[in-house]
Amino acid sequence: MTGAGFPKGDSWRQARRDMVSDQLRGRGIGDRHVLGAMAALPRERFIPPAMRNLAYADRAVPIGHGQTISQPYIVARMTEALNLQPGHRVLDVGTGSGYQAALLALLGARVFSIERIAELSASAVATLASLGIQGPELVVGDGSLGCPSGAPFDRILVAAGAPRVPVSLLDQLKENGQMVMPIGRASLQILVVVRRCDGQTVETPILPCRFVQLIGAEAWGSRC
Ligand code: SAH
Repeated sequence: MTGAGFPKGDSWRQARRDMVSDQLRGRGIGDRHVLGAMAALPRERFIPPAMRNLAYADRAVPIGHGQTISQPYIVARMTEALNLQPGHRVLDVGTGSGYQAALLALLGARVFSIERIAELSASAVATLASLGIQGPELVVGDGSLGCPSGAPFDRILVAAGAPRVPVSLLDQLKENGQMVMPIGRASLQILVVVRRCDGQTVETPILPCRFVQLIGAEAWGSRC
């Protein structure tokens, strides 16, 4: 794991502690469960070796296939905004490296994670197995259509931007359920919390952000 030029185990731990205090707690992330889980999860293991020196950098990092693992602060903000309870059934759209899925599992969720790029999903399966994280069910497919085999969900987290909230995701969200996803143009989105209550859908904007595109039947077309 620690090839030439890469930090050794202790340095990773220190980098992780610094990330939690400077990038997360220092910027207002207060949920102690989220902070604890991010302090425990070895983010470097989810990042390709060539990029590993950026594992705890304050930015998104490439993971191959033109995709990225989100910036730590954004992961924390989205996870905190989910208001997760142990045992919740959660759909994670855009498995990517598997980091977000692992985090949700550490927080006690029953995780279904869907990814459209089979190679990324396979690599995430291997990473989770190497860390002994057995909970998440990883699926290959178009997550803009949700994941009917695991529905309905208490929570849905989407780590890729779409022009609008996909109807299929809303349909697979339980009453009083809640979803967090970036909505907007391809180049800039707003992170939005979507709640379902009394048959109504309420959207609350959180912050501007820039995610890779959600590509699928209820999102951006594959040639965008
Ligand atoms: N949560 C990831 C980062 C996700 S990046 C992590 O922790 O590493 C966004 C991911 O969404 C990319 O891997 C991309 O391939 C995937 N994606 C894009 N459109 C998708 C779709 N319709 N269904 C499933 N995954 C999709």
